[in-house]
Amino acid sequence: MTERTLPGTPLSDEAIQQGKVLTLKWPASLRYEWDTGVAIGRFLSELKNGRIIGRSCHRCQRVLVPPRMFCERCFRPTDAWQFVQDSGSVNTYSLSHLRWDASRVEEPILVAVIEIDGSSQGGLLHYLGDVRPEEIRIGMKVKAVWKPAEEREGSILDIRHFRPFDSARDRPA
Ligand SMILES: [Zn+2]
Repeated sequence: MTERTLPGTPLSDEAIQQGKVLTLKWPASLRYEWDTGVAIGRFLSELKNGRIIGRSCHRCQRVLVPPRMFCERCFRPTDAWQFVQDSGSVNTYSLSHLRWDASRVEEPILVAVIEIDGSSQGGLLHYLGDVRPEEIRIGMKVKAVWKPAEEREGSILDIRHFRPFDSARDRPA
């Protein structure tokens, strides 16, 4: 079998480094804007107010958190805004020893899907805090730890993390 070669002269690193070929350095601008849409826009602005809001569907009787304007089960628009508690329970969780950039961390990052009280199924992906990894259980009751009002900016991180629900310290939701 003969090796197929294409016509032309391949570029070498040396030719590029010595400026024998035209090169351009152009730092890419990777700024972007994300349109949140009606449902997530309202959700984020309510987080700034220290409240969690969902959308209810009157046909299937569900409350969707995070909110959606369309019920994927009933194939129709959702009906109304509905505030829910800032407490919930751990649906599933993970102890991550990797940061987002894949570098390793000594103390694991505790992430969980929190089923919010007053909502139906699903939930918010968020951090757990004020808890040791070995204490975390599926079904564990948790409550949002909010940033101070003046630091909130309409972000999911306006909630710092969810901490174990302490019945001695918290009134039941
Ligand atoms: Zn529905």
